[in-house]
Amino acid sequence: MGQSPADRLGYCGGRAGDRMSLPPAAAGSTIPVMATASHSDAHRRLQEHGLRSTRCRRAVLAVIDAAAEPMTVEQIADALAGEGFDLSTIYRNVETFERHGLLNRLDMGDDVRRYCGCDGHHHHIRCLRCGRIDKVDVCLIEQMEGAIEQELGYKIVNHALVFTGLCRKCRR
Ligand SMILES: [Zn+2]
Ligand SMILES: [Zn+2]
Ligand SMILES: [Zn+2]
Repeated sequence: MGQSPADRLGYCGGRAGDRMSLPPAAAGSTIPVMATASHSDAHRRLQEHGLRSTRCRRAVLAVIDAAAEPMTVEQIADALAGEGFDLSTIYRNVETFERHGLLNRLDMGDDVRRYCGCDGHHHHIRCLRCGRIDKVDVCLIEQMEGAIEQELGYKIVNHALVFTGLCRKCRR
């Protein structure tokens, strides 16, 4: 991979409100992304999903919520460097969150596994040149699902769709 983790960050402005952008992680620096408000929000969401509210789980959720960008587990761990969490614990918690629908795993077609915490059904588009990722709120595929269900007799539960292209800056 020729890209640094920061190059792979994109934007995913899903949950409106207290999002802020996450500065690129510099080795050894602690990123002040954790607001007390989002920690209590994380606590509430964990309880809603019947999950034990541990310090690591609250911190992981708070980082993703504050980031406004899909993140890799490594980037989450970087943002929490200095908190004393085990990388494998962070991995396990991210997987638990994915199973409970607290996070979405994104496959952007580039073999990098990212997670976003945005609400509601949406897709993403990745710039092939700079790696920026934006959220795509429009989805017309849902209209196709009825036709597919009728034609093939399936009950559709999900679909995945990835867009790639050149962003505004790169297409110039
Ligand atoms: Zn998203
Ligand atoms: Zn671009
Ligand atoms: Zn869709």
